[in-house]
Amino acid sequence: MKILIADDDQISGILLKKQISTWNFDPIYVTNGKDAYKILTSPDSPQIALLDWIMPEMTGFEVVRALHADKHKEGGIPHYLILLTAKNAKEDVVKAIKAGADDYIVKPFNMEELKVRLGAGRRIVELTQRLSNALKKAKRLNNFIARFDRTTGLPNHIYLLEQIENICRTDTPYILLFINLDNFKVINQFYGIEDGDCLLNAAGGRLRHCFKDEIFTARRTSDEFALLFPLKGKNFEEFKRISLAVANKIHNAFKAPFIISGEEIFLTVSIGGTIISYDDDKKEPNEYVRRAELALKRAKKAGGNITVIHDSEAEKELKEKFELERDIEKALKKKEFLMFLQPQFTADGRVVSAEALCRWRHPERGLISPAIFIPITEEKNLIGQLGKIMIEKACKFIARTDNNFSLSVNVSPQQFQEKGFTGFLEYILEETKIAPERLTLEVTEGMFIKDVQNTINKMERLIDMGFSFSVDDFGTGYSSLLYLKQLPLRELKIDRAFVKELPNDKKDIAIVDTIIDIAENFGFDLVVEGVETKEQVDFLAPRGDMVFQGYYFARPAPEDEVFLNYFKKM
Ligand code: C2E
Ligand code: CA
Ligand code: CA
Repeated sequence: MKILIADDDQISGILLKKQISTWNFDPIYVTNGKDAYKILTSPDSPQIALLDWIMPEMTGFEVVRALHADKHKEGGIPHYLILLTAKNAKEDVVKAIKAGADDYIVKPFNMEELKVRLGAGRRIVELTQRLSNALKKAKRLNNFIARFDRTTGLPNHIYLLEQIENICRTDTPYILLFINLDNFKVINQFYGIEDGDCLLNAAGGRLRHCFKDEIFTARRTSDEFALLFPLKGKNFEEFKRISLAVANKIHNAFKAPFIISGEEIFLTVSIGGTIISYDDDKKEPNEYVRRAELALKRAKKAGGNITVIHDSEAEKELKEKFELERDIEKALKKKEFLMFLQPQFTADGRVVSAEALCRWRHPERGLISPAIFIPITEEKNLIGQLGKIMIEKACKFIARTDNNFSLSVNVSPQQFQEKGFTGFLEYILEETKIAPERLTLEVTEGMFIKDVQNTINKMERLIDMGFSFSVDDFGTGYSSLLYLKQLPLRELKIDRAFVKELPNDKKDIAIVDTIIDIAENFGFDLVVEGVETKEQVDFLAPRGDMVFQGYYFARPAPEDEVFLNYFKKM
């Protein structure tokens, strides 16, 4: 063990050095306080020091005080400091220990005493060393635990963010991918947490084996992994192409089934990615996380099992959504919503009814499709208000037309669930004096998922009043047929997804035939949506009684135009 001796009295210093070296120490000797301080603060410094109180340049006492001040700084070395004093003055001793000395020896001392005091120092230094090593080990372990995921052994979100931070400091472009397991929550519920963890582990393993070491794979959240991959290329288009190829490799890796508890499970993934590039004006880790999340959301929204790479288009979309959210309340007050109507026909071209479809005439952006603003209206809990506007318009329209014509309005689940819904319909009947039989309420299967009994009760009350119900987009939603038996429905609308490929797609033919069968057996009226060609009409018409709605017959048009063309009282 190294030991420093600092004494300006050279003779006693050299003697000390000689003596101490026989006690299994490795002494270094200096003649002033400044040199002592320098050596004690150097990286490989001795940990025990014997410092004479009175020395030139810096006294032993000052060295102790300076070292003590350093001790708490980063990289400060724990020392065992012994002061050599000439007199046995109590106040000096107190002063020395207060300043940070660990021991003192009064000169002249006998060597035996010095030996035991140095021995004590050695024990303390060794103990401190052991403690500090243990602490370092614990810290490393802690750091490991904090930065790795226990289930998969992969780096976790903390480590991932550190890694993104590091990448942001370099010039190398990277792709950041978030890989979300589709429907994992359902699988987890079905098979249980243990099998779910096995599956996650296997999924993580597959990701890691997809690529070699150049790739950083992490588990980000319960059902999401992340991947960082350096990109070679010159511009965004090239980066994007490579990124998509990387993502494709992942999709392919998930094509084979996973074997969990002896069962085959098929998993798909949705991937959202963003490019971390040197010419980015917003090069911040959280910004990249946001972009990748946004891209992933788009991938999920498109039905999953695909990859979306973030680009300026996505940013534009987000901005537009934000602006629409802001504008929609104003639009409701200012009555910027219009009713378009799409007539419904018999096979021989007679109009029997029409569907009311909402349009938003935005002051700057012109007509906006309900596919864009209805979801926002629902999110913002404003669909009830919008629905009332539409029902009022529909009833007023009915009041203008011949007694045979009826209209359908779309009623979102949220709107139907609202407390004042029935009351509003009573009020509007009063106002417009129309026969409620002439208004059909189009609802979706989603309405029958929860609170079925309450829903049925409410529907029955409305039916007693004279209204009737149609199930919109039939076959695309809640898959249980049980509700069909229980619900008081009048009509089914075959979704256009099943009509699009007619008459070529065998599966669609089977589905459509089944729905026709169901309608006949249950006594429901049938409307076919999205009919675009004569071929479709010719194919469908002989198969049963049905009404047609679609571009082949008529596109949705402003209510006044439809009134003039189809409903004007003769
Ligand atoms: P939906 O109720 O399924 O309405 C039918 C949609 O199909 C309409 O889209 C219509 O324009 C379109 N369509 C009709 N025939 C064809 C065709 O031959 N080919 C194709 N490709 N499309 C056709 P639109 O008007 O954009 O409405 C979209 C959706 O927005 C509606 O789907 C409905 O779910 C919702 N929506 C519209 N108005 C309202 C409303 O007042 N209240 C509520 N809650 N939802 C509404
Ligand atoms: Ca509809
Ligand atoms: Ca529909």
